[in-house]
Parts: sequence; structure tokens; C-alpha cells
Amino acid sequence: MLEVISCLVYEHDYRYVLLAAAVCVAGSVMSMRLFARTRRTTGARRANWLFLAGVVSGSAIWTTHFVAMMGYAPALQHVYDPAITLISLFLAIGFCTIGMVVAASTRTSALIEIGGAILGIGIAVMHYTGMSAMRVTAQMEWDPTLVAVSIALGAFFGAIAMNRIARPVTRFCRYGGALALILGIVSMHFTGMGALTLVPDLSIAVPERGISDGLLILGVLAVMSLVMGTGLSSYLIDNHNEVEAVRRYRQLALHDAVTGLPNRHHLASKLAEIIGGDYDDTSRIAVIGIDLDRFKDINDVHGHATGDMVLKSIAERLSACLQEGEFLARVGGDEFVAVKTKLYQKAQALEFAARLHAVVCRPIEDETRVLTVGASLGVAYYPDDAPDASTLLTRADLAMYRAKQSAFTSICRYDSSMDEANRTRAALSLELRHAVERNELELYYQPQNDVASGDLIGFEVLARWNHPQRGLVSPVEFIPLAEETGLILPIGEWVLRTACREAARWSKPFKIAVNVASAQISQSDLPRLVDEILAETGLPASRLELEITESSIIEDHHHALAVVRKLKSRGVKIAMDDYGTGYSSLSTLQNFPFDKIKIDRSFIADVDTSAQAMAIVRSTIILAESLEIPVLAEGVESASHLQFLRDQGCHEAQGYFFGKPVPVASIQALVTSTETEQPLLKSA
Ligand code: C2E
Ligand code: CA
Ligand code: CA
Repeated sequence: MLEVISCLVYEHDYRYVLLAAAVCVAGSVMSMRLFARTRRTTGARRANWLFLAGVVSGSAIWTTHFVAMMGYAPALQHVYDPAITLISLFLAIGFCTIGMVVAASTRTSALIEIGGAILGIGIAVMHYTGMSAMRVTAQMEWDPTLVAVSIALGAFFGAIAMNRIARPVTRFCRYGGALALILGIVSMHFTGMGALTLVPDLSIAVPERGISDGLLILGVLAVMSLVMGTGLSSYLIDNHNEVEAVRRYRQLALHDAVTGLPNRHHLASKLAEIIGGDYDDTSRIAVIGIDLDRFKDINDVHGHATGDMVLKSIAERLSACLQEGEFLARVGGDEFVAVKTKLYQKAQALEFAARLHAVVCRPIEDETRVLTVGASLGVAYYPDDAPDASTLLTRADLAMYRAKQSAFTSICRYDSSMDEANRTRAALSLELRHAVERNELELYYQPQNDVASGDLIGFEVLARWNHPQRGLVSPVEFIPLAEETGLILPIGEWVLRTACREAARWSKPFKIAVNVASAQISQSDLPRLVDEILAETGLPASRLELEITESSIIEDHHHALAVVRKLKSRGVKIAMDDYGTGYSSLSTLQNFPFDKIKIDRSFIADVDTSAQAMAIVRSTIILAESLEIPVLAEGVESASHLQFLRDQGCHEAQGYFFGKPVPVASIQALVTSTETEQPLLKSA
């Protein structure tokens, strides 16, 4: 009469089975995600993640079990003991947490799988404890073999789950881990249920107080949703932070901190990407190198904060004027690169360059002042000019340098002669090293005359390089080269010494004006050198005039002022050269005790045609008059220039009208007095 009722033939309520399956899948996936996260963190954060993963996986196992039990409700009267039910939850959480702590404690050892097995055994421990909470009017009989198999299955799949997460081979392994956990829970549960035989025994009384199915399901689902909700939100918050951190890191690594524009690194990879990508063969790509003119002066005069402000507003303006397919990066202090893709006509790139140039040159205003910078731009095309991204950038740069040197245009297009020019420059700078020793440098003298009387008053001394192969090299070419390489110091010293020695021989005491580069003021003891040379050559200090430009003052105002004062105390005169081309600040004129202002030749060249040039010359003369500084106009080429200067009250003039720069032999007649046959020779 023993009626054996196998648990497996009980009717299942499939709604609960489905719900259990859903809980099992969701819980397993989330547990494994959380566990995987612990492996990427350390310290307290890792402990938090382990705890959360333990709570979520334990709760998921526990919930799956009890929801499945609803579906398997035997037709016998039953309730659940509340205390044991709760204990089973804590056991599940405890085993899962410990298992995960063990598995997470290593990167490589078998502790990973051992921890997984502990977690799997936890499923069984939870299961049998949970079953023991069941109070039913039946005898529970267990098949020890199936019980053992169920525990083994739990341990096995637990180990596989941890193994997949901790030793992934593909990105799908995280699903493999979750799948193993699901299999562990399901196989353990059903084998465990199969091990149970309920033998109805009406003599067993079901206690009055206990958790009914209805209450249980409510409690179970409440726990589950709370736990899963917490787990999910923590995961999402952390994920968001991580994504945000990665985004910020990328932003910092690929963008320039001052302007926020992409940096050189970003530009290079983007350009390589465009060229390597599905680039339209019928179109071109234009790369435009942009270098600001006079930016260094702004930095030096107004400080770095102002410099940054200028860079920022230029970057903003440039970005704002970009159209589709155009891209901008900051690649150096005052250097930018713009890229235009999908170019079908070269004119489009020149239009783009002109647009960028106009935007840069617009004055920048802040509360106290108006600043202006210029820009030189160089354009190179892909694939016409270069086969790859880095050559393309170099060539745009070369074109940009050409634009910088040019007096006529601020936008240059790359052509292959520029590579040649660049190589020539490198070769020239090597040869310049030996120019002084080999006596290849020579001095030319250009007359300076009184405007009112037309009388000769002195000469400007201009260096020339007699290159053995190239012939006469212009100082416009080699002086900048000498400044870049530091050779300007020995060359400048040679010019000064030779000019003074030369002039000391003249019987007529004409003045000589010698150009002094900024490095000579900042990097050498110029007053000492001048003293030495004057003593050595016997030239009176009053016959020597030094021409300095505003840029050499701007570099170090205090030092330059000290040098200028020392020189003046010897009786040497100081002229400001190229006035009007540089910063032309009124304060420099007021603060520096100049003996002369030389108006740049570019203004004189235009006085006949440009009202603006005329106004600049006129106002400079008025200004100099108020400061009681005489003015010399450079580049006087015609009688009309001279007439204009005479009308304006300009004092002195220099230019082709009076004479071109010539070798010293050509001025012998001018500097030698006709009365005295023997000129005064001071030194050998
Ligand atoms: P700079 O000091 O402005 O010299 C005047 C330049 O204008 C000279 O060019 C001269 O030949 C040119 N020039 C004179 N009159 C006229 C004219 O009527 N019309 C035109 N179009 N040009 C005229 P140069 O000799 O080629 O020198 C160029 C620059 O090289 C000089 O400009 C100066 O900055 C630099 N330089 C020359 N010699 C030396 C030197 O010994 N030391 C330093 N540091 N720089 C030098
Ligand atoms: Ca000069
Ligand atoms: Ca000049």
C-alpha cells in the first residue's frame, strides 16, 4: 500500500517554471558580469564588487529554487519554515561569496575552479536546506546516489562558470560563464528533486505557522527584485563612470589642453585613417599648415595668459568657420593644421586657405587692448604632392615656411623645388660654419644722407657672403640661417671688428651703422666686445652706430635696456631699425633712449601710391619729433620719395637714390679727404 509518488510525475505549473527560468537566466548573467567586474578592480572596490556579486548570485539561486518549487507544488498540504527558509538564503549568499572570493584571489592557479566548485556546492547546500524548510504531510526519502550526483553537477558547472570568466579566450566567454551557471542551477535542482521521493503520511501534521506558497512567492520576488535592482544599478553606474573615464582619457590624449582642438597625434591617425580608408580616388585631400606670425611677440610682451587667450580665440574662430569635410588640429605652439577632404578642384583648397587666413588676421579684442596676429599658410595635396600622410604634412610645412619668408603672399602651394630649397638650406648652413675662417664674408657700405642738404653723413654696413660656388649670397638668406644656428655671434663679431677697423682708416670721420642681431644682445657681452674693438681699432665711439630691431628688445626688455645704456655711456649711438614692421609699440620708443628711428623701406616704397603708407611715415615723423629722436627713411629710390620726406621734415635718408650698398673699395674716394694724401692709419 505504499504509494510511491515520484516527484517528477507531479504536475508542474509551467507559469512558475517559466518565471524560475527567467530569474535563473537574468540572475546568472548578472552574477557573472559582476564577478567579471571584480577582476578588473582592486582593493576596497574589488571587495565591494565581490560582495555584490555574492549577494546577487546567492539570491538568484535561492529565488530560482523557490519559484521552481511553486511550479512543483505537490498536491499535498505544505508550508515552509520561515527560519530555515531564511537560513537557506544566507547559506546561498555565503557559499557564492566565498567561492567568488577564492576564485578572484588568483589570476592563474586552480583556485579559480576550486572557488567555482565551492559556489556550485553552495547551490546544493541551499537546495537541500531549502527543501528541509518544507513541512509536508509526507515522508521525504532521498536517493543518496542522486544526491551525490546533484552535488557533483553543481560543483562541476560552478567550476566551469568561473573558469570561463577568469580565463576567457573570446568575448563570448562571459555568456559561456553565465550559461554554465544556469546549467549548474538547473541540473542540480532537477537531479536534487529527482533524488526525492515523497511518501504521503497523513499522520504528519503540517504546522499552522509557516510560510504559505503565496507569501513565499511574494517574499522571494521582492528579495530578487531588490537585489537584482541594486546589482544592476551599481553595475550601470560603474560602467558609466568607466566609459566616461575612458572618454575623458581619450579627450586628453588626443586633444590639446589649451584650445581643446585635436593634437598632432590625433591628426596623424585621422589623416592616415582617411587616406587608408575608403577614400574616393577621384577626389583630393588638401593639408594646410598654418603658422601664426608675431605670436611670439604677444607672448613676450603680454605674457603667456594673453598668449593662451589669443590661441583659444583663434582656435574657436577657425573651428567655427569649418565646413563639412574640413578638420582642424593644433600641432605646436602657434602651429595649426587644417585638412579638407573630398576636394574636386584645387581652387576649393585655396578658397579654404584664404578663409582660414582671413579668420586668423581679424583683430582680437579683450577689455584692455586689441591684438592682431598674421598667419602664413602652406598647402599640399594628396595624392599629387605626397604618397602618405606624414610626407603630406612635411610638405605642407615646407610650403608654409616658403609663405613665411615671402614678402608678397601669406599662402603658398607646395612644389617640388621646395624640397630642393630645403636641402640647399641645410647644405648652406653647414658651409656657413666655415665662411668666417675662410674669409668668404665681405662688407658692403651703403650711404646715408642728409635730407635737407643731400650731404653724405655715413654708411650702413651690410654683410655679403662670397660663396665659392654659389657666388654672392644675400644676407636675407644667410643672416636668418646664422641666427638659427647661433653662428650669428662669431659673424656679428667679425662684422663689427672689420667695419670699425675699416672706418678707422678713413680720413673723413663718417659714421658707420652696424646691424646687431638680437642674440648678440641677449647672449653675449656686447658692451665689453664694443669696448675691446673700439680700443683695438682706435675708432671713436661717436662714429659708431648700432642698429637694433624691436624684437631684440622684446625678448628681454630689462637686459636690453641695460645693454643699451652701457653702450650709450661709451658714446655709441643706437638706432631702431625697421620701424613699422614689428610690434611698433609706442612704449618701446618712449622707454628706450634711441638716437635714431629708421622707418622701414616698405613704407617709403609705397608713399607715392598708398595713402596709408604716407600716413604711417608722416605720423612716425611727428611722433619721433615729439620724442626728439631724428628719423632716417630707408629705401629712398626716387626724387619723389626724397621730396615727400623733405616736405615731412624727415632728417636723413638711405636708399638706391643715393647709392646701392657697395664694397669698401668703391667708397674710397668718398671717405678719403682730397687735401690729405695719406689717410690716418691707426692700426696695421
Ligand atoms: P636692413 O638692415 O634693413 O638693411 C637694409 C637693406 O635694404 C639692405 O639689404 C639694403 O641693400 C636694402 N636697401 C637699401 N636701399 C634700398 C632701396 O632703395 N631699395 C630697396 N629695395 N632696398 C634697399 P641687404 O643688404 O640685402 O640686407 C638685408 C638685411 O640683412 C638687412 O636689412 C639686415 O637686417 C640684414 N643684415 C645685413 N648685414 C647684416 C649684419 O652684418 N648683421 C646683421 N645682424 N644683419 C645684417
Ligand atoms: Ca639695418
Ligand atoms: Ca632696415
